[in-house]
Amino acid sequence: MTDRTCVTVVGGGLAGSECALTLADMGIPVRLFEMRPADSTKAHHGAGLAELVCSNSLKSLRAASAAGMLKCELTLMGSPLLRLAKQAQIPAGGALAVDRERFSDAVTRAVCAEPLIELVRERVDVLPDGPCVIAAGPLCADALFAELGARLGGAALSFFDAAAPVVEADSVDRGIAFAQDRYGDAGGGDYLNCPFTRDEWHAFWTELVGAQRVVQRDFEGSDLFQACQPAEEVARKGEDALRFGACKPVGLVDPRTGRRPWAAVQLRAENAQATAYNLVGFQTNLTWPEQRRVFRMIPGLGEAEFARFGVMHRNSFVDAPHVLDASFAVPGTQLRLAGQICGTEATPKPSRRGIWPP
Ligand SMILES: Cc1cc2nc3c(=O)[nH]c(=O)nc-3n(C[C@H](O)[C@H](O)[C@H](O)COP(=O)(O)OP(=O)(O)OC[C@H]3O[C@@H](n4cnc5c(N)ncnc54)[C@H](O)[C@@H]3O)c2cc1C
Repeated sequence: MTDRTCVTVVGGGLAGSECALTLADMGIPVRLFEMRPADSTKAHHGAGLAELVCSNSLKSLRAASAAGMLKCELTLMGSPLLRLAKQAQIPAGGALAVDRERFSDAVTRAVCAEPLIELVRERVDVLPDGPCVIAAGPLCADALFAELGARLGGAALSFFDAAAPVVEADSVDRGIAFAQDRYGDAGGGDYLNCPFTRDEWHAFWTELVGAQRVVQRDFEGSDLFQACQPAEEVARKGEDALRFGACKPVGLVDPRTGRRPWAAVQLRAENAQATAYNLVGFQTNLTWPEQRRVFRMIPGLGEAEFARFGVMHRNSFVDAPHVLDASFAVPGTQLRLAGQICGTEATPKPSRRGIWPP
């Protein structure tokens, strides 16, 4: 037991779980509030903590890359979630991809096993008193986000973000889709590649740009998250736009022809058993029937069964550079923000020099 002041953490996503485990590791008791499963968001599916809502890749492990360097720093800081992610790792070339269910289970178990953390399955509608971290993510429940906006006094911000669909592995035609990493040996590799001929690509692109979307016009332009644009938005820039992006064929050789395909959609395993694959770079805002119709035009996915369709959501965040200080605190208060609600896709950690108790 400890007589140190308890910190309230709101949100058991990536940032909130990391924060709670790190504080507990520092000997600080935590009350961690998570509203799921009684209340959920439009992107979460389950009750587990640290649920990854879209890509199961945490990006590169190479220290020479920005994402890899961050992982090196997180490792030196003793990040609990990075350690658990490595335990749930599945093959994905040089990237750290995880089995999303195993990862979420491991984080949930770690939090539940931690005697200094009390996990409370309730939605928080009012900013808590005392030391507190709001890590409610980009889909923070409305009442809390409204109160946060009122407390911070600045306009709340938002942008549109999208998730990619997932197909059942046994519905992929392996006579067409081939396993190969870029520049790797045919027959091996962590990715499945769906190769297009030039004509197949033209037909697919034509249907993709013309397909029906869920939201027609209100997110066009600067409101889209540039690093995660819907595939159909990228495709609208021209027939070759995706061929030089997510669908680039470089480094691939189709074993059926011995040649580089005109374009290729890559599939990455969702879990260690590879029972499902996500369509890399195919975050989308198409209606579900249109996703089924258009994505089945991808060679190898003619009979694809969709385990999950892509979705698009308005993500909310605060104007952190103007309303938070350098430690992500609301100046002069015990209120801190962590995770993507700050407008980043990273996870700020509390300082080990000991911010709490104040
Ligand atoms: C559609 C979509 C696609 C995305 N795709 C990607 C991607 O491919 N790659 C990527 O890196 N990031 C992606 N993101 C961003 C992703 O959400 C973040 O990277 C990551 O989940 C942020 O972690 P977080 O802990 O800040 O928020 P989250 O993981 O969202 O966790 C917030 C938690 O707070 C809970 N919560 C919310 N409000 C309350 C409340 N009032 N009371 C109690 N609990 C509450 C939620 O249930 C949730 O569990 C995507 C987001 C969306 C919405």
